[in-house]
Amino acid sequence: MLADIRYWENDAKEKHYAVPHFNVWNAEMLMGAMDAAEELRSPVIISFGSGFVGNTVFEDFCWMMESMAKKATVPTITHWDHGRSLDIVKNAYEHGMNSVMRDASAFDLEENIRLTKEVVDYFHPLGIPVEAELGHVGNETVYEEALASYKYTDPSQAAEFVARTGCDSLAVAIGNQHGVYTSEPKLNFEVVEKVRDAVSVPLVLHGASGIGDDDIRHAIRLGITKINIHTELCQAAMDAVRENANATFLELERAVRAAVKKRASEKIILFGSDGKA
Ligand SMILES: [Zn+2]
Repeated sequence: MLADIRYWENDAKEKHYAVPHFNVWNAEMLMGAMDAAEELRSPVIISFGSGFVGNTVFEDFCWMMESMAKKATVPTITHWDHGRSLDIVKNAYEHGMNSVMRDASAFDLEENIRLTKEVVDYFHPLGIPVEAELGHVGNETVYEEALASYKYTDPSQAAEFVARTGCDSLAVAIGNQHGVYTSEPKLNFEVVEKVRDAVSVPLVLHGASGIGDDDIRHAIRLGITKINIHTELCQAAMDAVRENANATFLELERAVRAAVKKRASEKIILFGSDGKA
């Protein structure tokens, strides 16, 4: 069934688990992620974003996302990830997404507040929650170089940011990065603690593929309540492609779906969201 992300993030906060967010942009990823959530009785966020439009036409694929979310026997949120403009997230909402992220984190604080608030003001009357980002989780690059000029979330700005934007959840930058980490992730957990103490909205961890299990558990203990996974689903799919290179395309497709399900299941168990639906 379609679910409200606010309810589940707050449930996660109360019960110390994290709601899994899986970026899905083709049928195998979507079905594999839903297979895992159904089997493990987990609430789940299925998510699309601009980075995938070169592969899949969102305006067609969105209906499969919405249909599967509605038919699911577990609470399912349809989400737009990293919305770069009001028009983009409006389009996502008009195509069945019931939760959006406005990411203006590349701008300075005042501009981030202005652009985020613009989206919150548009969506709150429609009952749609908005995730925002403070600090900046960068895109895939050499990790050590990214850390050298990394824009961590400034905990002293968090309360003001949330109050002035009205955002419903907050993505934090604590040394996490999108894509593949070229060396071991170094997370600054003090930032999580300080932001958690400064604001009452749920906190989100992006770029969680490749972060070790102990660090994930620690982040959840400190108050992270939504965790985004994309790269590891792609890696699991690619392993299946390599292992099944001589299979038929029909067999290969099933193998990819099963591999995505397996990796998603491991994350659900790690996040502690199994059995919470
Ligand atoms: Zn992200």
